[in-house]
Amino acid sequence: MKNNLKLNLKNAFPIILAALSLINVSCHSTTEAQSVSDSVNLTTTKSDQIESGKPVIAASSISNLKPANASVIFARQQVPVLCYHQIRNWREKDSKGAKDYIVPIADFKAQIKMLADSGYHTILPDQLFSYLKFGTKLPSKPIMLTYDDTDLDQYTIAAPEMKKYGFKGVFFVMTVSLGRPNYMSKTQVKSLSDDGHIIGSHTWDHHNVKKYQGEDWVTQIEKPTKTLKEITGKEIKYFAFPFGLWNREAIPELKKRGFEGAFVLAEKRDENDPLFTIRRIIASGYWTPRTLHNSLVNSFDGK
Ligand SMILES: [Zn+2]
Repeated sequence: MKNNLKLNLKNAFPIILAALSLINVSCHSTTEAQSVSDSVNLTTTKSDQIESGKPVIAASSISNLKPANASVIFARQQVPVLCYHQIRNWREKDSKGAKDYIVPIADFKAQIKMLADSGYHTILPDQLFSYLKFGTKLPSKPIMLTYDDTDLDQYTIAAPEMKKYGFKGVFFVMTVSLGRPNYMSKTQVKSLSDDGHIIGSHTWDHHNVKKYQGEDWVTQIEKPTKTLKEITGKEIKYFAFPFGLWNREAIPELKKRGFEGAFVLAEKRDENDPLFTIRRIIASGYWTPRTLHNSLVNSFDGK
């Protein structure tokens, strides 16, 4: 007997993993799997297992899922993504411009608390991409917190602060900095990854991707990705463009090297490749929690 169980894909992942580990699952081929606006229908087998709370989903059901096309992805409501750099108190020598990238500790804590108090739930890239590609459901008021450039205070300040609220983040690491003073060590990056945060690539030494030629792709992309994979023991699937600078030529180069998506800054996305131009806004050191909230709403809602 076949049972059509409506599951959202996020919740189905552990089940899918369980299914993959079973060898005697009869694989019902699903009809052409479709991405729909809010959820995905997965065909399951063995109603007894469903009743016992352990539904089995044939692995073929997942491999048959077809991602939405670029225009559907582009049209979906964007999820707000914040980008942080340094989290420390301002020093006298910090320039006016630099302070946009340096959030004082108390302000950072107030921003994160505001997000929690306002009912935001942090999501990770796999959830975002599943939503964008397949229309799977997200928690209410989803938001993504990202941290660029490997700064040590992301480990010492941001991670413990997020932990208070059960938040998880994404750390885009430039590998040249690893182990340098005021930057994270490999062990710290591994610890973030083990704690359930996601480690992404932010090149070797922050060179502008638009200028890469030949060997630059190896130095800036391939080797750092390998290093991060060795550190975390996990695939590195997401990339953040240094300075948010990107061009169309870079996208196939990233795809070729196994990336599933890339993040830019606040400028427009590419209509043909929205997954490689996910927008983020920089959470400025000048912002109060209220300014941050207004900026989130203005930048991501209704676009
Ligand atoms: Zn950067």
